[in-house]
Parts: sequence; structure tokens; C-alpha cells
Amino acid sequence: MNFQPDPRISDFREEVRTFLSYALQPAWRERKRKLISSPKEDVRAWSRALDEREWLVHDWPFEYGGQPWSAGQRYVFEEELAMAYAPDTDRIALGLIGPVLCKYGTEEQRARYLPAIRNADEFWCQGFSEPHCGSDLSGIRTTAARDGDNYVVDGRKLWITSAQISEMMFALVKTTEAGKPTRGLSFLLIDMRQPGVTVNPIITLDGSLSDREMVNEVILEGVAVPTGNLIGDEGKGWLYARSLLAHERSIVPRIAQAKRDLATLREIAQTEVRNERPLLQDPIFRAQLISLEAEFSALEFLYLRMLHLSEEDSYAHVLAPTVKIRGASFRQRISELMLEALGENGIKADGSGSATLIPPYAEGVGANYLFRRTASIAGGTSEIQRNIIAAVGLEL
Ligand SMILES: Cc1cc2nc3c(=O)[nH]c(=O)nc-3n(C[C@H](O)[C@H](O)[C@H](O)COP(=O)(O)OP(=O)(O)OC[C@H]3O[C@@H](n4cnc5c(N)ncnc54)[C@H](O)[C@@H]3O)c2cc1C
Repeated sequence: MNFQPDPRISDFREEVRTFLSYALQPAWRERKRKLISSPKEDVRAWSRALDEREWLVHDWPFEYGGQPWSAGQRYVFEEELAMAYAPDTDRIALGLIGPVLCKYGTEEQRARYLPAIRNADEFWCQGFSEPHCGSDLSGIRTTAARDGDNYVVDGRKLWITSAQISEMMFALVKTTEAGKPTRGLSFLLIDMRQPGVTVNPIITLDGSLSDREMVNEVILEGVAVPTGNLIGDEGKGWLYARSLLAHERSIVPRIAQAKRDLATLREIAQTEVRNERPLLQDPIFRAQLISLEAEFSALEFLYLRMLHLSEEDSYAHVLAPTVKIRGASFRQRISELMLEALGENGIKADGSGSATLIPPYAEGVGANYLFRRTASIAGGTSEIQRNIIAAVGLEL
């Protein structure tokens, strides 16, 4: 890894800032700041603005619209968007199923689904977990039985993020009971708008204020899925899922957003008054903040190192879970310290817009604190990430 300053990076940063100065609408930023994630209509409008600039699918392969950016440029892009409170994009579509379609999809599948992802016409959800399996997907019970040109899918998926607003779901289903449990899994693309699909939202601790982070139960009863919606070969779903899960570990930690949260925490500490002086001058609080800032520098380098590695590099398979564990715990601790810094205002700050007498930086802090508890579970629990590090990195 080269630590010398790259002049192309500062030019690129300026280019991104210029774009943000005209493309980013104040109302989108406001909603992103208050809520855990942007509402669907903001995601759609922002995705289209990014795609027009040819930056939406920047990390897809070049032939599908990707940009030949360096790892440094990719990080600067993430950082500038996060710092500006730019709306989210559909990371499940762009970061998970998009790359799988590019790598393993047929020409017909790519022609059907990639343009709709780029234009944010269709939102996607990920249907892997079930009531009896999350960490160990070999226990999947949802079945897909072949019936002429269709599979008929029956089962129950659980904790499915944004299923209630998604048009499409990619799912792991069981197509045979023969052989090892993972050998019987297939990877299907399911249209959520058809008969037999029922979505039941689950209200979580944070009040499920964000429609795009809401988790759901999805019941599939006799759902007909054309065989043309099978990714790759029947029974090889585990292969495609593993490739996707490796991507997931690296998109879940959201290091640039953690940097923004840290900057907000410093702003809070400078503004909030405790014992007649700014909180930042309180030696205990200050020590905690500085310790987090130092830790963030290490995490940021680790992340940049990960971005430099290609997907095929075996070391990437150790770095991704390491960044996932550290990133999750980091964002949880920032949210704890924010709440501590805000005292009563933090509890009022649920992001619902009902609390009008609190400073703007306090909006959403309470809900964010509760929502962050899930960071060490979603996308693979910290225990499972440690198992991967032990098995792949330490060969234990
Ligand atoms: C906010 C949120 C959003 C989610 N979104 C989605 C989604 O969109 N799509 C989707 O498919 N799933 C989603 N999930 C589900 C998520 O992937 C699972 O919750 C997660 O993989 C853990 O599975 P589980 O809940 O079944 O827990 P279990 O696998 O039952 O684990 C329970 C506990 O046992 C530990 N454990 C399990 N196995 C081992 C082991 N071998 N060694 C050590 N410890 C172990 C775990 O770490 C955990 O602490 C989401 C979850 C959350 C919280």
C-alpha cells in the first residue's frame, strides 16, 4: 500500500464536492440527518442523479458501468457523500445482487434487471435468513419444487430488510434434499408483487422509523417463479451466496459514515455544556472521544487496505470480517457516547420530528443508539466473523 499523497485524489475530491454542491437537495440532506436512512423517494431521486453523472454503479465491472477508480478515489467518494449527508442508495441492489448478476447472471437476466437497478425502478431485498437459521444457512427450509417452466416456492423468511417496499427479492431456497445440505440450495430471483407473497413488518426497538431499515417476515405460499429466474446452476446457490456474503461484509461497516458520526460527536461535545463548561473540556469525556478518534484512524487504514485488495486475494477474506467486527463495535460506541453527551435531549431525539426543542445535531440520536445494537448481528454476527478469521486467517 502506498502512503504517499496522490495529487489525483485532491482533484477528484474537488470534483465530487462540486457535483454535490449542485446535485444534492437540502431537503434530502435534512431527512438523511434526522432519520437512520433516507426514505425510498429520496433514494430513487438521488440514485438517478448519481447515475446521470455515471457514478451510481462505480464499483461494478467496467463493462457494466463501473469506474476505473483507485481504492483511494472510492474512499474519497464514500467519504464526501457521507460527510454531506447525501441520501442512501439501494445497497442491497447495488452492492449485493448487482455484482452477482454481473458475474453469474445470464445475458437475459442482466438485460432485464440491471437497467431497473440503475434507474432505481426496482428495489431489492435479501431473503436468506429463516426462523431457524441465520448464521448457518445450511438449515434453510424454504423449498422450490420444479413444475414445468416454474419453481413453486413455499416457506418463511425472517428479518428481511426493506421487504415491505421492495419489488424484488433474491432468495436461497432448497431444490433438493439429496446430498450435503448446502448442495441442495439454489439462488432464485422472486418478484414480490405476485400472488402468494405476504410481507409482515416487524417493529423494532428504535420504532422502525426508517422504511428502508425496517425488518420483515416474508411468507411464500405457492409462489410461481419462472425457471429463467434461477441464478447459475440448480443446487449451486451456496457458491453464489458466498460471493455475495463476502461483498456484504465489506459494505455493512460503512466506515465513511462512522467518520461523519465521529465529527458529529465532536460537534456535540463542543456545544453541550456540562458543569458550566463545554463537554469537550471534561477530562473523562475528552479522553473517551480522543480514544475513539485514534481508534478510528486505525480502522480507516484497515478499511483502505481492504479496498486495495482484489476480491480474489485470500487476505481480503480475513480483512473483511475484521473490518466488520471493528466497524460495528465502533459505531455502537459512538452512538452510546452521543447519547451520554446529550443527556435528556438524546432520549427525546427519536428522529420522528416530534421533539422540536432540541438542537439539530440531536435529532435521530436516540433512535440511532437503539438501531446500532443490530450492527453486530446483521450481515453476520461478530461471533461468526471471528470464526471466519480463525478458520481462514489463523487456519485453526
Ligand atoms: C437489523 C437486521 C437486519 C437483517 N436483515 C436481513 C436481511 O435483509 N436478509 C436476511 O436474510 N437476513 C437479515 N438479517 C438476519 C441476520 O442475517 C441474522 O440475524 C444473523 O445472521 C444471525 O442469525 P440468527 O438471528 O438466526 O441467530 P443465530 O444464528 O441463531 O445465532 C444466535 C447467537 O448464536 C451465535 N452463534 C451461532 N452460531 C455460532 C457459531 N458457530 N459459533 C459461535 N457463535 C455462534 C450467534 O453469534 C448469535 O449470538 C437481519 C438481522 C438484523 C438484526
